[in-house]
Amino acid sequence: MSRATRDTSARRERAGACRLTDDCNLNSFHGFGLAEPITRALAEERYDAPTPIQVETIPLVLRRRDVVGIAQTGTGKTAAFALPILDHISANPQPSPGKACRVLVLSPTRELSAQIADSFRIYGRHLRVRVALAIGGVPIGPQIRALARGVEILVATPGRLLDLVGTGAVSLDRAEVLVLDEADRMLDMGFIHDIRRIVARLPKHRQNLFFSATMPPAIAELAREILHNPAKVAVAPPASTAERIEQRIVHLQASAKPAALAEILRGGAVERALVFTRTKHGADKVTRMLVKSGIGAEAIHGNKSQNQRGRVLAAFRDGHLRILVATDIAARGIDVEGITHVINYDLPNEPESYVHRIGRTARAGAAGTAISLCSAEELPHLRAIEKLIRAAIPADPQSARPAPASQPRGKARPYQHRSGAPPRPHAPRRDAPASARHELATVPFLQPKHREQSGPSARRPRKQWRRA
Ligand code: AMP
Repeated sequence: MSRATRDTSARRERAGACRLTDDCNLNSFHGFGLAEPITRALAEERYDAPTPIQVETIPLVLRRRDVVGIAQTGTGKTAAFALPILDHISANPQPSPGKACRVLVLSPTRELSAQIADSFRIYGRHLRVRVALAIGGVPIGPQIRALARGVEILVATPGRLLDLVGTGAVSLDRAEVLVLDEADRMLDMGFIHDIRRIVARLPKHRQNLFFSATMPPAIAELAREILHNPAKVAVAPPASTAERIEQRIVHLQASAKPAALAEILRGGAVERALVFTRTKHGADKVTRMLVKSGIGAEAIHGNKSQNQRGRVLAAFRDGHLRILVATDIAARGIDVEGITHVINYDLPNEPESYVHRIGRTARAGAAGTAISLCSAEELPHLRAIEKLIRAAIPADPQSARPAPASQPRGKARPYQHRSGAPPRPHAPRRDAPASARHELATVPFLQPKHREQSGPSARRPRKQWRRA
């Protein structure tokens, strides 16, 4: 037996023992038996302890199981799949035949794909691993050249990947692992057929890792088609994040929104704000309005070139840009720390998007505020959101919630859910008793539904795993 194989077997044995039992210390990455170059990179990144999704997922992936994970961005799910995949690559080196990849990661947006590729490069920097990124909006030539010699990891958005496959720049018949990230967004963005076309080109025998923030029936169906006897893991977003978000609704006429937004953004407490609009056109319009009012802002959405998006995001990240106006899809996967405010200029028409949007603030243990501007026409969206989060979002004291449109004038009655039940009062303050706190963990689709393994670590608050 070669030394490498012996080392790998020893590590596997340790990893195999690494169920959530007392004899395995999963407060540290060493407990998984990952290759030393990987744990070294993690130490350099100052990742002290694995997050709950990492605790649950890493041992399963190391054992080459298919996994379906319900987790959203911000839970550490990228490392949850990237670390064991890198470990597999390092333990099983293979010469590349060229124009091929060993691991295919599909994600819905260019930004998220770029972040995933960066994560693989960071965690794998002491390994000999080639990572390629295949996304639209940038010239295809460099991507074709990067794939020519073959890569271990290919991170791609579906459309560009199919273009590359179509021109023969890459073939997928040697892929050993498929990762589908943010599957629910893939569905929203109409990628479902592309995914089926891609999956049809993969070898039948492969490992499948499937992540989604929500599990609507169409996604559950896709998971059933793709995965073989998967282990199921689910984590709620870090509770501390949700608890720290102070949410507010401002009721106003649609025509009053520009002035209200400008006023909020001029407030001293707003250090870095992400403003959401429903449409790309709306994002441009709001940005122009802000700039005209003397408030520096830039927009990010699907009509911007990849270079523009990268430049704007970098400026937002490094603090040169204070206000970023975005559509849901463009903001998906943006992981920027220090966003003090999320402003919903338009309320999203999908209630789940509200949860994703406000989760952009209060990251990494910081506090955050989410303010939503709500016109009378948007009240049905507000009701849907409150039904989903099972809480009434308090209205700004200056603005009263208008009576439902069907209500005859002068007969206003207190706001009620469509179910008829009054909403639970929202109490997001940190000093509120735990029982009264509004936790997004109560949102049904974020509840740990199928916890194959459970343990105290699954509920470990974020502050124990964020970077020191
Ligand atoms: P993700 O959910 O994969 O987008 O990760 C969210 C953020 O958490 C990223 O900035 C990661 O670098 C960071 N992160 C992931 N895992 C850990 C960990 N175990 N310790 C500290 N930071 C982490």
